[in-house]
Amino acid sequence: MIMMSIQFTDILAVAGAFLYLITLGVAIKLTGLRENKQRLLALFLVIGLVTSLLPLTHSLGWLSNELLQPIEWLCIILLTIIFYLLSRMVLQFKSERPWLVYVLSAGWIAALVVVGFNLIRLREVLLKATDWVITRQTLTLAILLIGWACFLIGIAGMLVHVSRKPIAPIVKNRAHYWSLALAIIAGSDILFWVSMDSWGGVLRWPGMLLAAAIIVRPYMPDIRRIERQVLNYMVMFTLTAIVLLAGLLLVPPIFERFREGYNPTLAGAVVAVFLAALLGPLWVLSQKIVQRILPAKGYDPNRILREYSQSISNILDPELLATVAVGLISEAIEIQRGYLFLVDYEPEDSGGNYRLRGAKGMGEDQPEPCLLKANGPIATYFRQDRKPLRQTDIELEPRFQPALAEEQSWLANLGVDVYMPIYTKDEWVGLIALGPKLSGLPYFDDDLALLAILADQTAVALQNARLVESLMRLNNDFRRAYAAMEQANRHLKQVNVQLENLDRTKSDFISVASHELRTPLTVMRGYNEMLLEDPAINGNAFHAKLLNGIYSGIMRLHEIVNSMLDIASIDTRSLELKVEPISIHMLIHMVISGFKESLEERHLTLEAEGLRDLPEIDGDPEALKKVFYHVVINAIKYTPDGGKINITGLTVSPGQMNLPDGGVEVIVADTGIGIAPEYLDLIFTKFYQTGELALHSTGRTKFKGAGPGLGLAIARGIVEAHRGKIWAESPGHDEDKCPGSQFHVVLPLRVKQ
Ligand code: ADP
Repeated sequence: MIMMSIQFTDILAVAGAFLYLITLGVAIKLTGLRENKQRLLALFLVIGLVTSLLPLTHSLGWLSNELLQPIEWLCIILLTIIFYLLSRMVLQFKSERPWLVYVLSAGWIAALVVVGFNLIRLREVLLKATDWVITRQTLTLAILLIGWACFLIGIAGMLVHVSRKPIAPIVKNRAHYWSLALAIIAGSDILFWVSMDSWGGVLRWPGMLLAAAIIVRPYMPDIRRIERQVLNYMVMFTLTAIVLLAGLLLVPPIFERFREGYNPTLAGAVVAVFLAALLGPLWVLSQKIVQRILPAKGYDPNRILREYSQSISNILDPELLATVAVGLISEAIEIQRGYLFLVDYEPEDSGGNYRLRGAKGMGEDQPEPCLLKANGPIATYFRQDRKPLRQTDIELEPRFQPALAEEQSWLANLGVDVYMPIYTKDEWVGLIALGPKLSGLPYFDDDLALLAILADQTAVALQNARLVESLMRLNNDFRRAYAAMEQANRHLKQVNVQLENLDRTKSDFISVASHELRTPLTVMRGYNEMLLEDPAINGNAFHAKLLNGIYSGIMRLHEIVNSMLDIASIDTRSLELKVEPISIHMLIHMVISGFKESLEERHLTLEAEGLRDLPEIDGDPEALKKVFYHVVINAIKYTPDGGKINITGLTVSPGQMNLPDGGVEVIVADTGIGIAPEYLDLIFTKFYQTGELALHSTGRTKFKGAGPGLGLAIARGIVEAHRGKIWAESPGHDEDKCPGSQFHVVLPLRVKQ
């Protein structure tokens, strides 16, 4: 009997060792030994293997009982500590004092070694009372149990903490499994404490296997699904058992009562038929019970679609849209990560690129943007095939092999399983990328069909969001441009104020200078006239010539000073008109007669027509003389020798040219050098002269003779004071072809002051 039991535990030990060895090999093959977690798992399995083999060494007589026990204890201590450390890693638990566990572990082991091997020579009996006794052995056991309990409570605490935290469902799912592993391992340890070593070892297998699987597999199947299946099985079993028992209990008495010869086979058949008939309703009942105890979270496509379209249709911010859309999809099909990319086409000579701009998904970092070659296989698929694409297809299918390495590695680094393109009309505008399901299951066709509908829903929202985005951009551009314009406007206003100040200073200067010049000029003119009348000087031809020269200079200066005075009074709006009825014909005649000599000298013909027929008008004769003086003298100055000047008078009927009472129009046309269109208006501003000043000749009526640039400004000031209009017309400026100019002066019949 003893021999049999030894053989049985030996078989268990060897089988356990094999199991640990296989687990260790698979774990190393799948994940390697690069990370601490993987190395710690390997150590965990190696110690598990040693622990499993310990009973064998004992039965083979290699280890004495005294030595076996402390080694077994040490193994359990190490397994507990490693399990604690693994728990911290698996549950992603961040401890504030990570070193504490090492200190406690060291203290625990040290205490056990000191007391267990009696290094400080304790007495075997430590305390003794009448009813109880504490031996060194009891103390060792107490240290062992207390330490073990502390670590296990620590792990349980971690699990409680994690279950309360709002963490990713994948970690929560892992925590469920981990608590199961904890329960199994704790149970196996308890079997050790109650000296059922072999059974403890057997129970440890599934615990350690489960722990290894959790560490090696990134996604564990959804535990709730398994829980539901187990529960469903149990409920179904119980219900069937109840029906069967009830049948077996009730059917025989009924048979006995109604039939004389009781046939058990028939009774059994009746129960079986009864049970078969009830199987369907029982199954439904079982499902209902399970649903009540563990409500299923499987998704209802119609509900998801409804909620999805309601939630995203009003979102206009692409970032928010991405978060909500991906969040809803993730929640519906229970995935751990997802992204929404906005796709923009960037044309280029070589066929262009699609730029994928990632919008933040579920709490993940925003991925870097990526360029996909428009004529590359991946972009071509999305553009043309209009179907979802799995990451595995990109990696395995030959048609995607020619894709650029950067494109492939960018997609692989996203860590997603499936891509769902989004289109508006014929354009590829977005991409939903979804990570693995929490359940570890692949994407089924149903999921992809639902995703395709969700992608269509997203298209509309995405298009709106993009529209709003570009509108916002436009708005920002507009705002910037508006701000720049405002600044320019302010600057312009400043410059305007400066210019107005400058103009005022100029006008002040003209006014002061002309007044100051007039008096000495008048004195000079007086003395000059006296000298010219002096017979002593008159007799001397040379002196007379000199004096005449001085006289004409003084007269020219006078003219300029008068012009300056005129413009000053126009500028300061102090021009006072002495209005009386005048004949334009007479007035112009007087002006022309002053140019008789000049016209002859320059071989210019001046013809007037229609002036006689003009009606008398109200006006200041002296002022209007100046108007025609300046216009005619300009016609003389800017017409080459031998040219023609025509003065035409036209009557303006009442109501025409904005003149209610009518008026007169005088046109002075010449065959001169003409005026460029851009100057037609500018020449009426004071000091404005076209052409180069240095090229002007000096004579008053010489071709292109000099002038201060005031004539037309004075003419306009006076005409406008009469409520009339003056303007110039010319085909252009050309000194060779001489296209000529026309000056129009329109004066009203009546001047209303
Ligand atoms: P200015 O003293 O220079 O003659 P105006 O005010 O009389 O000053 O004329 C301004 C400018 O208009 C002249 O410098 C000239 O360039 C142009 N101008 C005026 N009348 C004529 C014309 N009949 N033909 C061509 N250019 C003219």
